Amino acid sequence: MRAILAASLLMASLVHGGAVAAECPPGALGVARTIVVDPREHARIGAMQYNETLPLNDREVVLTFDDGPVPRHTGSVLETLASECTKATFFMVGQMANAYPAMVRRVHDEGHTIANHSQTHPFTFSRMSVPQAAAQIEGGFASLRAALGDPDAVAPFFRIPGLLRQDSVEQYLAAHGVMTWSVDVVADDWTHINAAEIARRAVSRLEARGKGVLLLHDIHEKTAVALPEILKELKARGFKIVHVVPAAPDRPKTATTPEQWAAHVPERGLWPRVVVTDMATSAPALTVPSPTSFGVADPPGPAVALSLAPGFKHMPLQPGEVSRAPWPRPNYWAPATAGLFAVPAAQNFQYSHVFAGPHRDTTGVAARKRVASSPAHGVRAKASNRSSPRVTSPFGGSRTASPPRLFGHQL
Ligand SMILES: [Zn+2]
Repeated sequence: MRAILAASLLMASLVHGGAVAAECPPGALGVARTIVVDPREHARIGAMQYNETLPLNDREVVLTFDDGPVPRHTGSVLETLASECTKATFFMVGQMANAYPAMVRRVHDEGHTIANHSQTHPFTFSRMSVPQAAAQIEGGFASLRAALGDPDAVAPFFRIPGLLRQDSVEQYLAAHGVMTWSVDVVADDWTHINAAEIARRAVSRLEARGKGVLLLHDIHEKTAVALPEILKELKARGFKIVHVVPAAPDRPKTATTPEQWAAHVPERGLWPRVVVTDMATSAPALTVPSPTSFGVADPPGPAVALSLAPGFKHMPLQPGEVSRAPWPRPNYWAPATAGLFAVPAAQNFQYSHVFAGPHRDTTGVAARKRVASSPAHGVRAKASNRSSPRVTSPFGGSRTASPPRLFGHQL
Protein backbone atom coordinates (compact mmCIF):
# COMPACT_ATOMS: atom_id res chain seq x y z
CA MET A 1 0.00 0.00 0.00
CA ARG A 2 2.78 2.35 0.91
CA ALA A 3 4.52 1.54 -2.39
CA ILE A 4 1.34 2.31 -4.32
CA LEU A 5 0.96 5.59 -2.48
CA ALA A 6 4.58 6.50 -3.22
CA ALA A 7 4.10 5.64 -6.88
CA SER A 8 0.96 7.73 -7.14
CA LEU A 9 2.71 10.64 -5.48
CA LEU A 10 5.56 10.27 -7.96
CA MET A 11 3.11 10.24 -10.85
CA ALA A 12 1.42 13.33 -9.50
CA SER A 13 4.73 15.08 -9.21
CA LEU A 14 5.60 14.17 -12.79
CA VAL A 15 2.27 15.23 -14.19
CA HIS A 16 2.05 18.53 -12.40
CA GLY A 17 5.00 20.83 -12.90
CA GLY A 18 4.11 22.80 -9.81
CA ALA A 19 4.44 19.72 -7.65
CA VAL A 20 7.91 19.07 -9.11
CA ALA A 21 8.93 22.65 -8.35
CA ALA A 22 7.70 22.30 -4.79
CA GLU A 23 9.95 19.28 -4.32
CA CYS A 24 13.06 20.90 -5.75
CA PRO A 25 16.12 19.98 -3.75
CA PRO A 26 18.09 22.86 -2.34
CA GLY A 27 20.75 23.99 -4.76
CA ALA A 28 18.91 22.72 -7.84
CA LEU A 29 19.79 24.43 -11.12
CA GLY A 30 16.18 25.59 -11.57
CA VAL A 31 15.07 28.24 -14.05
CA ALA A 32 16.73 31.62 -13.56
CA ARG A 33 14.17 33.43 -15.68
CA THR A 34 11.60 32.92 -18.40
CA ILE A 35 11.85 34.95 -21.60
CA VAL A 36 8.65 35.67 -23.54
CA VAL A 37 9.45 36.21 -27.22
CA ASP A 38 7.37 37.55 -30.10
CA PRO A 39 8.12 35.67 -33.35
CA ARG A 40 6.72 38.56 -35.39
CA GLU A 41 9.54 40.81 -34.17
CA HIS A 42 12.42 38.33 -34.33
CA ALA A 43 11.78 35.82 -37.10
CA ARG A 44 15.12 33.99 -37.05
CA ILE A 45 17.46 33.30 -34.17
CA GLY A 46 20.69 31.36 -33.65
CA ALA A 47 24.25 32.64 -34.01
CA MET A 48 25.33 29.66 -36.06
CA GLN A 49 23.33 30.93 -39.02
CA TYR A 50 21.75 34.28 -38.27
CA ASN A 51 22.58 37.77 -37.08
CA GLU A 52 20.19 37.51 -34.17
CA THR A 53 19.90 35.11 -31.30
CA LEU A 54 17.96 34.98 -28.05
CA PRO A 55 18.59 37.97 -25.74
CA LEU A 56 20.60 36.09 -23.13
CA ASN A 57 22.82 37.60 -20.49
CA ASP A 58 26.28 36.28 -19.80
CA ARG A 59 26.27 32.70 -18.48
CA GLU A 60 22.66 32.08 -19.47
CA VAL A 61 21.78 28.92 -21.38
CA VAL A 62 18.66 27.76 -23.23
CA LEU A 63 18.37 23.97 -23.46
CA THR A 64 16.80 22.52 -26.62
CA PHE A 65 16.15 18.89 -27.55
CA ASP A 66 15.41 17.77 -31.11
CA ASP A 67 13.98 14.79 -32.99
CA GLY A 68 11.87 13.16 -30.26
CA PRO A 69 9.91 12.10 -28.53
CA VAL A 70 10.91 8.50 -27.89
CA PRO A 71 9.55 7.18 -24.60
CA ARG A 72 12.72 5.71 -23.14
CA HIS A 73 15.27 8.43 -23.80
CA THR A 74 12.91 11.39 -23.68
CA GLY A 75 11.65 10.01 -20.37
CA SER A 76 15.19 9.85 -19.04
CA VAL A 77 15.85 13.42 -20.17
CA LEU A 78 12.66 14.58 -18.44
CA GLU A 79 13.69 12.90 -15.20
CA THR A 80 17.10 14.57 -15.29
CA LEU A 81 15.54 17.97 -16.00
CA ALA A 82 13.01 17.43 -13.20
CA SER A 83 15.75 16.47 -10.75
CA GLU A 84 17.26 19.93 -11.34
CA CYS A 85 13.85 21.63 -11.59
CA THR A 86 14.80 23.12 -14.93
CA LYS A 87 12.98 23.59 -18.24
CA ALA A 88 13.81 23.12 -21.91
CA THR A 89 12.33 23.46 -25.39
CA PHE A 90 11.60 20.24 -27.31
CA PHE A 91 11.55 20.43 -31.10
CA MET A 92 9.48 17.36 -31.90
CA VAL A 93 8.94 15.48 -35.15
CA GLY A 94 5.27 15.11 -36.14
CA GLN A 95 5.39 11.41 -36.93
CA MET A 96 7.12 10.76 -33.59
CA ALA A 97 4.33 12.67 -31.87
CA ASN A 98 1.78 10.55 -33.73
CA ALA A 99 3.55 7.42 -32.50
CA TYR A 100 4.00 8.58 -28.90
CA PRO A 101 1.30 11.17 -28.12
CA ALA A 102 1.41 10.37 -24.40
CA MET A 103 5.06 11.38 -24.28
CA VAL A 104 4.25 14.69 -26.00
CA ARG A 105 1.65 15.33 -23.31
CA ARG A 106 4.08 14.42 -20.56
CA VAL A 107 6.73 16.84 -21.87
CA HIS A 108 4.11 19.57 -22.02
CA ASP A 109 2.60 18.76 -18.63
CA GLU A 110 6.01 18.96 -17.01
CA GLY A 111 6.21 22.57 -18.10
CA HIS A 112 8.54 22.40 -21.09
CA THR A 113 7.98 24.22 -24.36
CA ILE A 114 6.71 22.10 -27.27
CA ALA A 115 7.99 23.22 -30.67
CA ASN A 116 7.95 21.88 -34.23
CA HIS A 117 10.73 20.09 -36.10
CA SER A 118 8.68 19.11 -39.24
CA GLN A 119 6.41 16.16 -39.89
CA THR A 120 8.94 13.55 -41.10
CA HIS A 121 12.37 15.23 -40.64
CA PRO A 122 13.47 15.24 -44.31
CA PHE A 123 17.00 16.50 -45.05
CA THR A 124 15.79 18.36 -48.12
CA PHE A 125 14.50 21.65 -46.77
CA SER A 126 17.25 23.58 -48.54
CA ARG A 127 15.92 22.53 -51.96
CA MET A 128 12.20 22.07 -51.34
CA SER A 129 9.52 24.14 -53.02
CA VAL A 130 7.53 26.33 -50.66
CA PRO A 131 4.42 24.08 -50.91
CA GLN A 132 6.53 21.05 -50.00
CA ALA A 133 8.07 22.85 -47.03
CA ALA A 134 4.67 24.15 -46.00
CA ALA A 135 3.29 20.60 -45.97
CA GLN A 136 6.10 19.51 -43.65
CA ILE A 137 5.72 22.53 -41.38
CA GLU A 138 1.94 22.46 -41.14
CA GLY A 139 1.94 18.67 -40.85
CA GLY A 140 4.26 18.90 -37.86
CA PHE A 141 2.10 21.52 -36.15
CA ALA A 142 -1.06 19.47 -36.82
CA SER A 143 0.46 16.30 -35.33
CA LEU A 144 1.67 18.10 -32.21
CA ARG A 145 -1.64 19.91 -31.70
CA ALA A 146 -3.50 16.64 -32.13
CA ALA A 147 -1.29 14.94 -29.53
CA LEU A 148 -1.86 17.74 -27.03
CA GLY A 149 -5.49 18.40 -27.95
CA ASP A 150 -4.88 22.13 -27.63
CA PRO A 151 -3.76 24.33 -30.55
CA ASP A 152 -2.32 26.92 -28.20
CA ALA A 153 -0.10 24.41 -26.41
CA VAL A 154 2.39 24.28 -29.29
CA ALA A 155 4.78 27.21 -29.52
CA PRO A 156 5.14 28.86 -32.95
CA PHE A 157 8.81 27.85 -33.01
CA PHE A 158 10.29 25.78 -35.85
CA ARG A 159 13.74 24.30 -36.28
CA ILE A 160 14.59 23.20 -39.83
CA PRO A 161 15.84 19.59 -39.94
CA GLY A 162 19.57 19.54 -40.43
CA LEU A 163 19.48 23.36 -40.19
CA LEU A 164 19.20 23.20 -43.99
CA ARG A 165 17.77 26.66 -44.43
CA GLN A 166 16.75 28.58 -47.51
CA ASP A 167 15.27 32.05 -47.85
CA SER A 168 11.90 30.96 -49.19
CA VAL A 169 11.26 28.61 -46.25
CA GLU A 170 12.24 31.23 -43.70
CA GLN A 171 10.00 33.74 -45.45
CA TYR A 172 7.10 31.29 -45.31
CA LEU A 173 7.66 30.73 -41.58
CA ALA A 174 7.95 34.46 -40.84
CA ALA A 175 4.82 35.20 -42.86
CA HIS A 176 2.95 32.68 -40.71
CA GLY A 177 4.19 34.13 -37.43
CA VAL A 178 6.60 31.26 -36.75
CA MET A 179 10.05 31.88 -35.32
CA THR A 180 12.87 29.93 -37.01
CA TRP A 181 15.33 28.58 -34.46
CA SER A 182 18.87 27.77 -35.37
CA VAL A 183 21.44 27.22 -32.59
CA ASP A 184 24.33 28.96 -30.86
CA VAL A 185 26.16 25.90 -29.56
CA VAL A 186 26.15 22.24 -30.62
CA ALA A 187 27.54 19.22 -28.77
CA ASP A 188 27.80 16.94 -31.84
CA ASP A 189 25.62 14.34 -30.12
CA TRP A 190 24.47 13.01 -33.52
CA THR A 191 28.01 11.88 -34.32
CA HIS A 192 29.96 8.86 -33.09
CA ILE A 193 31.11 10.26 -29.76
CA ASN A 194 30.32 8.99 -26.29
CA ALA A 195 28.40 10.60 -23.46
CA ALA A 196 31.50 12.01 -21.76
CA GLU A 197 32.58 13.70 -24.96
CA ILE A 198 29.09 15.12 -25.55
CA ALA A 199 29.18 16.65 -22.06
CA ARG A 200 32.70 17.97 -22.57
CA ARG A 201 31.86 19.63 -25.90
CA ALA A 202 28.60 21.12 -24.63
CA VAL A 203 30.17 22.68 -21.56
CA SER A 204 33.45 23.79 -23.12
CA ARG A 205 31.68 25.44 -26.06
CA LEU A 206 29.22 27.22 -23.79
CA GLU A 207 32.18 28.31 -21.69
CA ALA A 208 33.95 29.62 -24.79
CA ARG A 209 30.92 31.55 -26.03
CA GLY A 210 29.82 32.59 -22.57
CA LYS A 211 26.12 31.83 -23.13
CA GLY A 212 23.81 30.41 -25.75
CA VAL A 213 21.12 28.16 -27.14
CA LEU A 214 22.39 24.59 -26.79
CA LEU A 215 21.28 21.88 -29.22
CA LEU A 216 20.89 18.30 -27.96
CA HIS A 217 18.88 15.30 -29.21
CA ASP A 218 16.59 13.39 -26.85
CA ILE A 219 16.43 10.37 -29.18
CA HIS A 220 19.96 9.28 -28.27
CA GLU A 221 20.69 7.25 -25.16
CA LYS A 222 24.17 8.76 -24.87
CA THR A 223 22.66 12.26 -24.79
CA ALA A 224 20.32 11.19 -21.99
CA VAL A 225 23.35 9.75 -20.19
CA ALA A 226 25.37 12.94 -20.75
CA LEU A 227 22.67 15.31 -19.50
CA PRO A 228 23.22 14.91 -15.72
CA GLU A 229 26.92 15.69 -16.20
CA ILE A 230 26.14 18.70 -18.42
CA LEU A 231 23.74 20.15 -15.86
CA LYS A 232 26.11 19.44 -12.98
CA GLU A 233 28.99 21.19 -14.77
CA LEU A 234 26.86 24.15 -15.80
CA LYS A 235 25.73 24.58 -12.21
CA ALA A 236 29.29 24.32 -10.89
CA ARG A 237 30.46 26.96 -13.37
CA GLY A 238 27.71 29.41 -12.48
CA PHE A 239 25.57 29.05 -15.60
CA LYS A 240 21.82 29.73 -15.34
CA ILE A 241 19.03 28.13 -17.35
CA VAL A 242 16.56 30.32 -19.20
CA HIS A 243 13.19 29.02 -20.33
CA VAL A 244 11.65 30.45 -23.51
CA VAL A 245 7.92 30.75 -24.22
CA PRO A 246 6.01 32.57 -26.98
CA ALA A 247 4.09 35.77 -26.40
CA ALA A 248 0.32 35.43 -26.07
CA PRO A 249 -2.56 37.85 -25.46
CA ASP A 250 -2.28 37.24 -21.73
CA ARG A 251 1.51 36.99 -21.76
CA PRO A 252 3.35 40.09 -23.04
CA LYS A 253 6.81 39.79 -24.49
CA THR A 254 9.85 40.41 -22.32
CA ALA A 255 11.15 43.94 -22.77
CA THR A 256 14.48 43.88 -24.62
CA THR A 257 16.70 46.20 -26.64
CA PRO A 258 17.82 45.39 -30.23
CA GLU A 259 21.44 45.11 -29.04
CA GLN A 260 20.51 42.20 -26.76
CA TRP A 261 19.49 40.19 -29.83
CA ALA A 262 22.81 40.70 -31.62
CA ALA A 263 24.23 37.24 -32.26
CA HIS A 264 27.86 38.16 -32.52
CA VAL A 265 29.64 39.58 -29.54
CA PRO A 266 32.78 41.62 -30.26
CA GLU A 267 35.87 39.47 -30.51
CA ARG A 268 38.09 39.41 -27.48
CA GLY A 269 41.69 40.22 -28.41
CA LEU A 270 42.25 37.59 -31.08
CA TRP A 271 45.73 37.52 -32.59
CA PRO A 272 47.05 38.16 -35.12
CA ARG A 273 44.87 40.95 -36.35
CA VAL A 274 45.40 42.08 -39.92
CA VAL A 275 44.52 45.72 -40.23
CA VAL A 276 44.35 47.73 -43.40
CA THR A 277 45.75 50.97 -42.10
CA ASP A 278 45.44 53.42 -44.91
CA MET A 279 45.32 53.80 -48.64
CA ALA A 280 48.02 56.50 -48.48
CA THR A 281 49.82 56.03 -45.23
CA SER A 282 52.65 58.23 -44.12
CA ALA A 283 56.18 56.84 -44.45
CA PRO A 284 56.55 54.05 -41.92
CA ALA A 285 59.54 53.76 -39.63
CA LEU A 286 60.60 50.36 -40.91
CA THR A 287 59.56 49.09 -44.28
CA VAL A 288 59.87 45.94 -46.25
CA PRO A 289 60.86 46.30 -49.92
CA SER A 290 58.51 48.20 -52.13
CA PRO A 291 58.53 48.26 -55.95
CA THR A 292 61.04 51.13 -55.82
CA SER A 293 63.49 48.81 -54.05
CA PHE A 294 63.71 46.87 -57.29
CA GLY A 295 64.39 49.83 -59.53
CA VAL A 296 60.81 50.51 -60.48
CA ALA A 297 60.93 54.26 -60.16
CA ASP A 298 57.37 54.92 -61.07
CA PRO A 299 55.22 51.83 -60.47
CA PRO A 300 52.11 51.95 -62.58
CA GLY A 301 48.87 52.33 -60.74
CA PRO A 302 48.24 52.75 -57.03
CA ALA A 303 49.85 50.59 -54.35
CA VAL A 304 48.11 49.70 -51.12
CA ALA A 305 50.12 49.76 -47.92
CA LEU A 306 49.12 47.13 -45.40
CA SER A 307 50.53 46.63 -41.97
CA LEU A 308 50.22 43.91 -39.38
CA ALA A 309 49.20 45.55 -36.14
CA PRO A 310 50.67 43.62 -33.21
CA GLY A 311 47.53 43.29 -31.14
CA PHE A 312 49.02 40.82 -28.68
CA LYS A 313 51.03 43.31 -26.68
CA HIS A 314 49.66 46.36 -25.01
CA MET A 315 51.98 49.28 -24.59
CA PRO A 316 50.40 51.82 -22.27
CA LEU A 317 51.38 55.39 -22.90
CA GLN A 318 53.85 56.95 -20.55
CA PRO A 319 52.98 60.22 -18.83
CA GLY A 320 53.32 63.00 -21.35
CA GLU A 321 53.27 60.69 -24.38
CA VAL A 322 50.64 61.51 -26.94
CA SER A 323 50.85 58.39 -29.08
CA ARG A 324 53.20 55.58 -29.79
CA ALA A 325 53.66 53.67 -32.98
CA PRO A 326 53.86 49.93 -32.37
CA TRP A 327 57.19 48.36 -33.31
CA PRO A 328 58.14 46.58 -35.45
CA ARG A 329 55.79 47.82 -38.05
CA PRO A 330 56.22 45.77 -41.19
CA ASN A 331 54.46 47.27 -44.15
CA TYR A 332 53.54 45.23 -47.13
CA TRP A 333 53.13 46.94 -50.42
CA ALA A 334 50.64 45.27 -52.63
CA PRO A 335 50.83 46.53 -56.22
CA ALA A 336 47.30 47.18 -57.32
CA THR A 337 48.04 46.36 -60.96
CA ALA A 338 48.97 42.97 -62.29
CA GLY A 339 52.04 42.29 -64.40
CA LEU A 340 54.47 44.56 -62.61
CA PHE A 341 56.89 41.67 -62.17
CA ALA A 342 56.88 39.16 -65.00
CA VAL A 343 56.48 35.49 -64.20
CA PRO A 344 59.48 33.38 -65.33
CA ALA A 345 59.55 32.51 -69.02
CA ALA A 346 60.92 29.30 -70.54
CA GLN A 347 64.24 30.97 -71.45
CA ASN A 348 64.86 31.71 -67.76
CA PHE A 349 65.57 28.03 -67.35
CA GLN A 350 67.69 27.39 -70.49
CA TYR A 351 71.17 25.94 -70.14
CA SER A 352 73.95 26.92 -72.47
CA HIS A 353 75.25 23.34 -72.45
CA VAL A 354 72.72 20.73 -73.36
CA PHE A 355 73.52 17.23 -72.22
CA ALA A 356 74.95 14.99 -74.93
CA GLY A 357 72.33 12.98 -76.72
CA PRO A 358 71.28 11.78 -80.14
CA HIS A 359 71.17 14.78 -82.42
CA ARG A 360 67.94 15.54 -84.16
CA ASP A 361 69.67 16.63 -87.32
CA THR A 362 70.02 13.40 -89.28
CA THR A 363 70.65 14.90 -92.70
CA GLY A 364 73.63 13.51 -94.55
CA VAL A 365 75.64 16.71 -94.34
CA ALA A 366 75.35 17.01 -90.58
CA ALA A 367 76.05 13.30 -90.12
CA ARG A 368 79.18 13.48 -92.26
CA LYS A 369 80.39 16.53 -90.35
CA ARG A 370 80.01 14.69 -87.05
CA VAL A 371 81.82 11.61 -88.37
CA ALA A 372 84.68 13.77 -89.63
CA SER A 373 85.05 15.79 -86.45
CA SER A 374 84.29 13.15 -83.86
CA PRO A 375 84.44 9.42 -84.70
CA ALA A 376 83.06 8.46 -81.32
CA HIS A 377 80.06 10.75 -81.71
CA GLY A 378 79.42 9.40 -85.18
CA VAL A 379 79.36 5.80 -83.97
CA ARG A 380 76.86 6.78 -81.30
CA ALA A 381 74.69 8.55 -83.85
CA LYS A 382 74.80 5.51 -86.12
CA ALA A 383 73.92 3.20 -83.29
CA SER A 384 71.06 5.47 -82.45
CA ASN A 385 69.78 5.36 -85.98
CA ARG A 386 70.02 1.60 -86.06
CA SER A 387 67.96 1.24 -82.93
CA SER A 388 65.22 3.57 -84.15
CA PRO A 389 62.39 1.54 -85.65
CA ARG A 390 60.79 2.68 -88.84
CA VAL A 391 57.15 3.52 -88.45
CA THR A 392 54.49 3.84 -91.08
CA SER A 393 52.45 6.99 -90.99
CA PRO A 394 48.70 6.52 -91.23
CA PHE A 395 48.81 9.40 -93.69
CA GLY A 396 51.16 7.59 -96.08
CA GLY A 397 54.97 7.31 -96.29
CA SER A 398 57.31 6.27 -93.59
CA ARG A 399 59.83 7.97 -91.32
CA THR A 400 62.33 7.11 -88.68
CA ALA A 401 60.90 7.43 -85.20
CA SER A 402 63.01 10.06 -83.44
CA PRO A 403 64.17 9.27 -79.95
CA PRO A 404 62.88 11.75 -77.37
CA ARG A 405 64.85 14.94 -77.48
CA LEU A 406 66.89 15.62 -74.40
CA PHE A 407 66.97 19.17 -73.20
CA GLY A 408 67.84 21.08 -70.12
CA HIS A 409 68.41 19.46 -66.80
CA GLN A 410 67.20 15.89 -66.65
CA LEU A 411 67.77 13.65 -63.69
ZN1 LIG B 1 16.68 17.02 -36.23
